[in-house]
Amino acid sequence: MTTKEIAGKKITVVGAARSGLAAAKLLSRRGASVFLTENGPPGFGITEGFAAEGIRYEFGGHTDRTLDADFFVLSPGVPTTADLVQNALSRDIPVYSEIEVASWLCKGPIIAITGSNGKTTTTALVAHLFRTASRDFVVAGNIGFAFSDHIDEIGDDTAVVLEVSSFQLDHIASFRPKVSVLLNITPDHLNRYENNFDLYARSKFRVFENQQPIDWLVYNHDDEVVRDFVEPWCAERGIRPWPISIKRELERGAFIRDGRVVLALPSTPDPTSSMIVEEELMSSGDLALRGQHNLYNSLAAAIAARAMEIRSDVVRESLMSFEGVPHRLENVRTVHEVTYVNDSKATNVNAVWYALESFSEPVVLIAGGRDKGNDYGPLERLVSEKVKGIIGLGESGDKVIADLGSFAEQTARAHTMEEAIQYARLMAVPGDVVLLSPACASFDMYNNYEERGEDFKHIVQSL
Ligand code: ADP
Repeated sequence: MTTKEIAGKKITVVGAARSGLAAAKLLSRRGASVFLTENGPPGFGITEGFAAEGIRYEFGGHTDRTLDADFFVLSPGVPTTADLVQNALSRDIPVYSEIEVASWLCKGPIIAITGSNGKTTTTALVAHLFRTASRDFVVAGNIGFAFSDHIDEIGDDTAVVLEVSSFQLDHIASFRPKVSVLLNITPDHLNRYENNFDLYARSKFRVFENQQPIDWLVYNHDDEVVRDFVEPWCAERGIRPWPISIKRELERGAFIRDGRVVLALPSTPDPTSSMIVEEELMSSGDLALRGQHNLYNSLAAAIAARAMEIRSDVVRESLMSFEGVPHRLENVRTVHEVTYVNDSKATNVNAVWYALESFSEPVVLIAGGRDKGNDYGPLERLVSEKVKGIIGLGESGDKVIADLGSFAEQTARAHTMEEAIQYARLMAVPGDVVLLSPACASFDMYNNYEERGEDFKHIVQSL
């Protein structure tokens, strides 16, 4: 849909959080008649300016006024199963996500990054690549800045580095990135997908559903779920995708050979070209981000950057200089030769697996919080190999200890972060790592994972 087509349309925007508000303002500026509806109370000062912008609104519930619409726009926080959304769908009112709508009005090429884990890290890394290359770009999406808020500053040559969640993909129609990156798919958020892994996976696959052979599709070849879907899907459509692997050498894409990052990409920036040139980019030991999982993130970012014609020497320099993202394996401080690492963003078992895998030092692990139905089985081997002590924290602390405690030498049960860190201090000796990697959400004790990580860092700073 173009600006012309949006003008005069009646649009209901559901959810007055960051993305919903941004979409409402954008669409209103483009001449639509916008009605914003929100279940909860209005946040402080939120409605200021609505009158001037011509946005009508309701808070504290959804009335039938919402249904007088040409289409709906959903904030990612609103599930498809919400009554209001179901009502619209049953009346054949189209429902779009905020990134779909923003993409209609976006002039620049989109680099869309999705997966169960690693989205924010890879998005921030790709943004760092564009920054180092002095290229015009914006970074938006799930990372915390609404895509719709940036539309007016995006020109034909402004790259949009977009972190995309499965919720945002649920309601796309024509969203078509120039580069899509699918990092991995592991169980998460299944409550929004009828506890059905296939449904969740399918929503992630939508990131590339509108791509054409002239676009770039980057996927994780080592992830069976991803590979088994992407390869036949692409073969049917004549698209040649770009795999990444840290387990095997590939004819095309990016992989590791003898400890070096190798890129096998077209000689011209054309993904349909069959002239593949192999290039040894750098030693994997020189990558700024540590751990196997970050190898995937670095390989994916490198292909995305080369696809956007960022020079190899700039890619190399950027991958060496990236400082990482807070709360993801963030080194906080070393006290008495014990290193404290904040991985508060590890809110599922898979993220903890990769965190543990990345350490060669003995680990004292602090885990637990609001459990989302976790199966800790996949951690058993790594815990017995690397974890000397486990501290169960918060609501699910007992479950963590019951499921994993027998694989470590010591366990302790903590009810506050302070207590957890005190136990960790007692267990750790010089050369050890104390790792906060909870495998759980933070809502039992904090408003969000950032607060949890800040609390950890604050206490560690005061040791
Ligand atoms: P997301 O934005 O997808 O939640 P983040 O980059 O914020 O991902 O990282 C979330 C957690 O997952 C962190 O604990 C991090 O160490 C871990 N992680 C990062 N990249 C990957 C990856 N490629 N595979 C698995 N885990 C990862």
